[in-house]
Amino acid sequence: MLDGKLHERCGIFGVFHNKDASRLTYLGLYALQHRGQESSGIVSADGDVLKIHKAMGLVNQVFRRDEPLARLDGMHAIGHNRYSTTGASSLANAQPILINCKIGQIAGAHNGNLTNARSLRAEMENDGSIFTSSTDTEVIMHLIARSKHDTVASMILDALSRVRGAYSILFLTKDALYGARDPRGVRPLLLGKKENSFFLSSESCAFDLVGADMVREIKPGEMIRIDRRGARSYTVPAFEPVEGHAHCVFEFIYFSRPDSFVFGENVDKVRRKLGRQLAREHPAPGADIVMGVPDSATTAALGYAEESGIKYDIGLIRNHYVGRTFIQPAQAGRNFGVRVKFNTVKGVLKGKRVVVVDDSIVRGTTMKSIIALLRTAEPEEIHLRVSSPPILCPCFYGIDMPTKQELIGSSKSVNEIRRYMGADSLGYLSIDGMLSVMPSPHENFCNACFSGAYPIGINGTGEDA
Ligand code: SF4
Repeated sequence: MLDGKLHERCGIFGVFHNKDASRLTYLGLYALQHRGQESSGIVSADGDVLKIHKAMGLVNQVFRRDEPLARLDGMHAIGHNRYSTTGASSLANAQPILINCKIGQIAGAHNGNLTNARSLRAEMENDGSIFTSSTDTEVIMHLIARSKHDTVASMILDALSRVRGAYSILFLTKDALYGARDPRGVRPLLLGKKENSFFLSSESCAFDLVGADMVREIKPGEMIRIDRRGARSYTVPAFEPVEGHAHCVFEFIYFSRPDSFVFGENVDKVRRKLGRQLAREHPAPGADIVMGVPDSATTAALGYAEESGIKYDIGLIRNHYVGRTFIQPAQAGRNFGVRVKFNTVKGVLKGKRVVVVDDSIVRGTTMKSIIALLRTAEPEEIHLRVSSPPILCPCFYGIDMPTKQELIGSSKSVNEIRRYMGADSLGYLSIDGMLSVMPSPHENFCNACFSGAYPIGINGTGEDA
């Protein structure tokens, strides 16, 4: 977590019936790169055999040569970008996962996190199963392989009936593409179409890149099967009675791209509303400019500027070419990591009363460094505004998050955080304010990391309550 931000665990993309299936999947993964930067992979199906290529690295590193994509021939494909969480960041955990079982080859690619994966895995290991990774996806693939049902669709549904937690998941066989979403609909999954080709994606921005139109969202608790005869829907048997949905509110705050459409709304639109609501709750009278911490907070900062009437300006420039690691000189000094990534626009900041908008604060160390950096440009005042509430609790539904003790919001008051950051004032958006700008009904959104009210049972370690 070099950038001090939370990270989505994965992005998924699938294509059915297109002679360029693996190349379009590559493009889809490219558009979804923000959802996982540690490994990438594609499985293709040529109507007979499934082929796979996966490796550590960004999409354009994993597929930097034409050879893997040329080898992944066939009319259908699924792909996956991964960001490791608690499990080791290794090739063994890269996805998709491809197995052979009684119905032949089947590949799976998963976004989310199961809250009963550990107990299911222990049960199967006691029964003799051998696991080669620490992913939840492999648990699901084992459940499919062990199912007593005899069609692929019923084997997948049988497997999903046993898992609890958050999943948006794709499966590929030699002649069909499947996409399923957990009954609470925690993570997004959308259906797209272009001529006779179908697409499934974590976010709609990937459809734009491949020239597909968004058809609709896969419903919470729905599995769709796409084959040569068209698309057919099934209901995923729920692990437990489902009361409403639990869409991740953080998809709107930070994870999804602003140009995407998820949970029935454009991300940009909701993010601007978050900024507007923040301006209503925490105005900064007398301020000269509003700026966002680039790039993720830019949209919320625009909303804040629109609502407050304070001029929007650009006070920080982000270097987009900073990788996950860089060579640090011995005498680098304090805040070097932030200085590599950001620089101030001194002419904009000097002598100004500045409102700085960020979308979220996790540990607080990065924002403290950013404020120290901004101070070097000699602004008169810095008023920090955050377009989400204080993060109090970890996420167990597919987000890379530090422990509760490491979350600055869980141990310090707002005023203590302000002092730690070195800001002149600090205002966080309220939970009610945040939910008020979500697409209705507002109770359909998970906000457990802000409230501790987990919609799917956990016991503090990510396992079942
Ligand atoms: S706990 Fe937070 S990050 Fe996790 S699903 Fe709920 S809202 Fe999203």
